[in-house]
Amino acid sequence: MKVEQDERFREQRERFRLRWNCEDCALFDPSLSCAHGFPTHRHRRSRYDDPQADLLFCKDFELA
Ligand code: SF4
Repeated sequence: MKVEQDERFREQRERFRLRWNCEDCALFDPSLSCAHGFPTHRHRRSRYDDPQADLLFCKDFELA
């Protein structure tokens, strides 16, 4: 599911220190990417350097 990113989300992301990227996931290994073999490019933190990028949440995310 794609969710449009807006200013309110960006403000709350910082205020509540929200985590949803691969770098914060227990299944992420920087050398192997995703332990479950999922493509990571749409969930990586760098994707959200673009304030227009739609939010995509991984259904297998596990907070590290
Ligand atoms: S399970 Fe999802 S969030 Fe976690 S490393 Fe794999 S692709 Fe990224």
